Amino acid sequence: MGEYINVVDTFGCDVFNDSVMQARLPGKVYKELKKTIEEGKELSMEIADVVAHEMKEWAIEKGATHYCHWFQPLTGVTAEKHDAFISAPMSNGKVLMSFSGKELIKGEPDASSFPSGGLRATFEARGYTAWDCTSPAFVRHDAAGGTLCIPTAFCSYTGEALDQKTPLLRSMEAINTQALRLIMLFGNKTSKKVLPSVGAEQEYFLIDKQKYLQRKDLIYTGRTLFGAMPPKGQEMDDHYFGNIRQRVAAFMKEVNEECWKLGVTAKTQHNEVAPAQHELAPIFAPVNIAADQNQMMMQILKRVADRHGMHCLLHEKPFAGVNGSGKHNNWSLTTDDGINLLDPGKTPHENIQFLLILTCILKAVDEHADLLREAAADVGNDQRLGGHEAPPAVISVFLGEQLEDVLEQLISTGTATHSKKGSRLETGVKTLPEFMKDATDRNRTSPFAFTGNKFEFRMVGSRDSISGCNVVLNTITAQAFKEACDRLENAADFNQAVHDLIKEYATDHQRIVFNGNGYAPEWAEEAQRRGLPNLPTMVDAIPSLTTDKAVRLFSEFDVFTKSELESRAEIKYENYSKAINIEAKTMIDIATKQIIPAVIKYTSVLADSINSVKTAGEGLVEVSVQMDLLKKTSKLLKSTNSAMSKLSKAVGRIYEYEEGRDRAVYCKEKIVPAMEALREPVDELEMIVDKDMWPMPSYGDMIFEV
Ligand code: ADP
Ligand code: MG
Repeated sequence: MGEYINVVDTFGCDVFNDSVMQARLPGKVYKELKKTIEEGKELSMEIADVVAHEMKEWAIEKGATHYCHWFQPLTGVTAEKHDAFISAPMSNGKVLMSFSGKELIKGEPDASSFPSGGLRATFEARGYTAWDCTSPAFVRHDAAGGTLCIPTAFCSYTGEALDQKTPLLRSMEAINTQALRLIMLFGNKTSKKVLPSVGAEQEYFLIDKQKYLQRKDLIYTGRTLFGAMPPKGQEMDDHYFGNIRQRVAAFMKEVNEECWKLGVTAKTQHNEVAPAQHELAPIFAPVNIAADQNQMMMQILKRVADRHGMHCLLHEKPFAGVNGSGKHNNWSLTTDDGINLLDPGKTPHENIQFLLILTCILKAVDEHADLLREAAADVGNDQRLGGHEAPPAVISVFLGEQLEDVLEQLISTGTATHSKKGSRLETGVKTLPEFMKDATDRNRTSPFAFTGNKFEFRMVGSRDSISGCNVVLNTITAQAFKEACDRLENAADFNQAVHDLIKEYATDHQRIVFNGNGYAPEWAEEAQRRGLPNLPTMVDAIPSLTTDKAVRLFSEFDVFTKSELESRAEIKYENYSKAINIEAKTMIDIATKQIIPAVIKYTSVLADSINSVKTAGEGLVEVSVQMDLLKKTSKLLKSTNSAMSKLSKAVGRIYEYEEGRDRAVYCKEKIVPAMEALREPVDELEMIVDKDMWPMPSYGDMIFEV
């Protein structure tokens, strides 16, 4: 049954965290480093040298032989370059293990092979990684041995951000400054810092590794490009929160243990809606740490699955027609002295500071709905959003009954006088405990839902970094706070001014609030009437990054320059075209080498059977069933072949379109429909052809047999 571990002793044992620093660093050095971490004070090279030395000694005790600067370039995955600690051999032929302050704080990976979206010419390929001391270093153990991983930000020679982390850190500064201004207006004299806190719930699929290896589409693209639905899908809802299978349970146990060692607070695990789908959520943390830990968690899920003979699929839509995977980004604002600014308290109508913050967020989301939508755009998510089990591509805010009622009071009378209360939960069973229900039920269909004391942004794709959406959330909220503070700080009568401002924001931005069923087709029409942007695909969403409005917003708060935004848009277009190109080529490959040959074989088996039955039956035995099947199969084979040549032709023309937006639009408008057209006859064939002859595992094989 495996061994038991002592969680309290194990937790964070491979992390260079505060208690390790306190125990190992000289008092003065520890204090200086804390000042850098907590107050952003510059770190001197002397201090860095001492920290580096102790970090190295500690890491070696943990079995590390190498260190790496760990960063998140715009490829969508983390990157690292490993260096051994060894120094040049001494005259006696021995080596020492060394690691300097300079090596800790600055790295210089050859940046030319990371996407820059035109920010760097290859002849100016210098890029730097810089230590993010607010996210702790850790030792990772894998087949490569022990590696000290140092979380870093990645910038070009001229200081432009080439990664996910730099803008995230910049946006944290923006929201910190503006949120502090705002709470000071309400008399807060104790808080020194406001941090966005985030808990990202991670969904994933687990399938058997042997089956995975038989599907080239999964190997090359992460999702199935062909596949008919099994007779039983998820309609019974018997998987959701269902009993966890033993093989999966053993996997989860190991995932948790690996997470805990690295200080990742893996907390809640359960089966998800789709068969073979699961979820893992950590306890929330400051957003830059949460973003790093989410990357670590995804790597752990992949690695541990492999050890258990399974494969973890993080794609947003591995199986068409089956629930997709996302990441729920739970976001709130917390002060250093533990106040959650999104906590409405028991009587929200009396909590003026909360109402101002809430209406500022409504304003922010309404004014920048396009940016928030864009932040969740990736190729895989195009398959998921707007389906019937994932948020629609239209941004709206769910507030729930209680807050919506308060808001309506504000709008209609200018003052809110009461808050709806939760009632007692009546089960009708005396032996069950009684408790109070929340004042508000949940809504699972909203892309941006208020859930008690936090907002939950549910559109993020399961593979995506959570940095992007938090950069947007932090910056748009900072802007709304700034505008409010600019007005309130100069107001003659603060109380009156706050009151007016809350009413104004609530009224002007009421259209973004929607408490109904976001999956219903009527909502799309209603949203259009309200004038809310509907950006169904990634290609439609990318232009939001470079509008005048976006450029003004991000430059005002020093989060992105105009050229950084343009480069990001460029990279996104490129990533889109590349991904679609790979998918299309994989489809062609599978159809040519696996499906068409299998179907031809099947037709000859049918033909042979018709002939031999005819002969044996001396013309008296009925063969019409076989005949019909043969005709139907041959017809679908022909459609497959013609759809395939159309797709091949379309793919052949990709390079006629200039890299960037033109090519992405071409892929979306011509390649994607041609891929769908090829899939259709193939999926029909899968339902007809003898299962033993079908060249790859079916949906049923993969999702019901883990
Ligand atoms: P559910 O969404 O099912 O209610 P939980 O309440 O357990 O789930 O929370 C989901 C995620 O939200 C967890 O990662 C949790 O740590 C995080 N979370 C809880 N409270 C906050 C908060 N105030 N700010 C940010 N994240 C939070
Ligand atoms: Mg949730």
